Amino acid sequence: MRALFNRYHQSIALHLLLVIFGFYFLVAVLVTVVQLYKEYENTKTEFYEEIQTLPATFGKGISDSVWTYNQELLESILQGMYNLPIVVGVKIQSSDQKMDLQIGAVLDEQNQVKYYDSKGQPTEQKLFGLGSKSLFSHEFPIHYQGPAFNNDIYLGKVIIYSNDQLVFERVKYGFFLILINSLIKTFALWFIIYFFIKKYLGRPLEEFTHKIRQQNTQSPQPIDLSVHWTDKNELLILKDSYNQMIQRLKDHQHELLELNQALDEKVKARTHDLELAKESAERLAYSDPLTQLNNRRAFFDYGQRLLSLTLRQQNSLSLIMLDIDKFKKLNDTFGHALGDQALKALADTLKENLRSTDIIGRLGGEEFAVLLPNTGEVDAIKIAQNLREKISQIELKQGQSSIKFTASLGVVERTRADSNIDSLLAQADKALYASKNQGRNRVTSYSEIATSPTQ
Ligand code: GH3
Ligand code: MG
Ligand code: MG
Repeated sequence: MRALFNRYHQSIALHLLLVIFGFYFLVAVLVTVVQLYKEYENTKTEFYEEIQTLPATFGKGISDSVWTYNQELLESILQGMYNLPIVVGVKIQSSDQKMDLQIGAVLDEQNQVKYYDSKGQPTEQKLFGLGSKSLFSHEFPIHYQGPAFNNDIYLGKVIIYSNDQLVFERVKYGFFLILINSLIKTFALWFIIYFFIKKYLGRPLEEFTHKIRQQNTQSPQPIDLSVHWTDKNELLILKDSYNQMIQRLKDHQHELLELNQALDEKVKARTHDLELAKESAERLAYSDPLTQLNNRRAFFDYGQRLLSLTLRQQNSLSLIMLDIDKFKKLNDTFGHALGDQALKALADTLKENLRSTDIIGRLGGEEFAVLLPNTGEVDAIKIAQNLREKISQIELKQGQSSIKFTASLGVVERTRADSNIDSLLAQADKALYASKNQGRNRVTSYSEIATSPTQ
């Protein structure tokens, strides 16, 4: 029952039907009541008219039988009247009261209903269930018009009774036909309306809802409805509007996607640029632009780490410091550009003749330093001598002439006490200073000058 109730509210067709037929039923009942009333009135009028024709038919016979006191004849005439379908009772009141007779349902002087059989004897048998109160009557006088009299002689009166119930019985049948007729029409209309509202409205709406529910929210697609009976109605307009909305959504999604991709690519490009900039900034901060060697800062940084590492591993470490001889003069004589050329050539010579694990740096001007891990003083001096030799062989070209230069070197091996690069550099610097003092283009070891009694 509840399911049926829910269906009423979920289906437009059923709901409309309920509302339409609620009103239709009210109207139908009103119209039928009015129709029934009118029919009743008409039928009652017809009854009166029929009853009023009875005197013409039976009057002569009755007056003759009363005049001749023919009881038998009077009874049979009254019986005949009584048998008419519109008559429920007949009463004769003769002026001398000798021929009084009553058959069927009649009213007495107190307006009470009395019942009489076909012989005119009172009976208890009630002829009509409802009848008593609804009896109505018509009376006419009886006169005798014999050939010997000039004037009619009044013999009494006849009262004919009929009953509303009979009127109703007759109307009832007509009404029954009307009722059946309108019931059939109502149900036919009900079915037709339900069928077509469902077909033209309910089903397409159901289909529409179903298809919208099945849409994938990520990529909604335009939908189609199986509405074939028209090119354009409210449903199709609704569907078209929905599809346009979907299209706009898709366009927006597409634009968003493209924007996202563009943004992604921009971010990637920027990140790459930043990484490059960072790398080059690091290179700039740590390398010497002229020789591409470690600059002073990088040399100190890497040098300090190497020193700590070899100290912990108890490995040896030596430092060579190197300064071009009379570089000021070289610059002054051949120009600053040649000086730069000399610096670059010297840097290349260092790179070519040292191991990749050695750390080479330009400390400033024409001053360089090299850290040699796992190398003791003896080997370091050999390496320094080799470098000095290779530097002295560098030939700088200027026009036709080739220019040579030399360098002085100082070597020191780290002892256990040397835990920082500055003190080691100071010792190598002292050895270098000794090389300069002793005439340049030579290698001096710090151990030589430290143990020398002259120092
Ligand atoms: P010494 O043998 O005693 O070392 O004499 P020196 O002339 O080499 O010594 P000094 O320190 O007096 O001169 C260093 C010169 O190096 C001074 C400067 O003109 C030159 N110099 C420093 N840096 C650069 C550079 O980057 N390029 C060039 N071309 N010259 C430089
Ligand atoms: Mg110098
Ligand atoms: Mg110098």
